[in-house]
Amino acid sequence: MTLAVDRSTVVKEAAYRMRHHVLDMGEVQGQGYVGQALGVAEMLAVVYRDVLRYRADDPDWADRDRFLLSTGHYAIALYSALAEAGIVPVEELQTYGADDSRLPMSGMASYTPGMEISGGSLGHGLTVAVGMALGLRLQGNGARVLDFLSDGELDEGSTWEAAMGATHHRLGNLIAMVDMNALQADGRTEGVLSIEPAHEKWAAAGWFTQRVDGNDADALLAAFDAISAEPVGTPSVILCDTRIGRGVPLLETREKAHFMRIDEHEWAICREQLTAGGVA
Ligand SMILES: [Mg+2]
Repeated sequence: MTLAVDRSTVVKEAAYRMRHHVLDMGEVQGQGYVGQALGVAEMLAVVYRDVLRYRADDPDWADRDRFLLSTGHYAIALYSALAEAGIVPVEELQTYGADDSRLPMSGMASYTPGMEISGGSLGHGLTVAVGMALGLRLQGNGARVLDFLSDGELDEGSTWEAAMGATHHRLGNLIAMVDMNALQADGRTEGVLSIEPAHEKWAAAGWFTQRVDGNDADALLAAFDAISAEPVGTPSVILCDTRIGRGVPLLETREKAHFMRIDEHEWAICREQLTAGGVA
């Protein structure tokens, strides 16, 4: 038995449960950003089960690592992770998107424990993360800041200004994770504005850059381990190639994948397919 095997199993089982949470929440509304949430389950499972330092019973603990969801429309994905982390009770997921729920369809910091920022105005998350990382360092706080952003946000000039700022300020306490799902609201990312070669662009901005299969839990764990070995003062980015709808073949092949409408009878099929696939 090795430690690595244990970590891997913990993360894969968490990702599987989180995908079920996503389907449960999605069914409450009948639609939503379900495809993205299924696609990033391993990314968030690694973060919440292996990487992030937090206290489930004290989400505002001063020394916690900060996880920023720049893509506010991925809130359903984060709620599945917060439930897995024990910060939000699993039963509460059934209130998703309802009036007075702490779990609105778009992520809002004032509503949800463990939600650090109100994301959704895309291209702002990394700028906030840079400020937070700088502030924590000035306070002598050793916590890290993880910013989760999407490939569509690489279209935004503010993202690259923040990337350069992070290098300038030598923010080794900052990690960015990019969901490279190749899709954004207006279509294929490559068709809207080509962002490749993304690896070279981040590296040129001075970041320790890795690109992995974002649905491969072991590759993600190895990437975070490699960050720990980096010299102090270098911000890190992990570009994660993911598949929208991952784990549910019916949704993986869906034409309209950005905001999915799923018919009432299809939810049972989705669940059956996910269960049949089992823990990846
Ligand atoms: Mg995208």
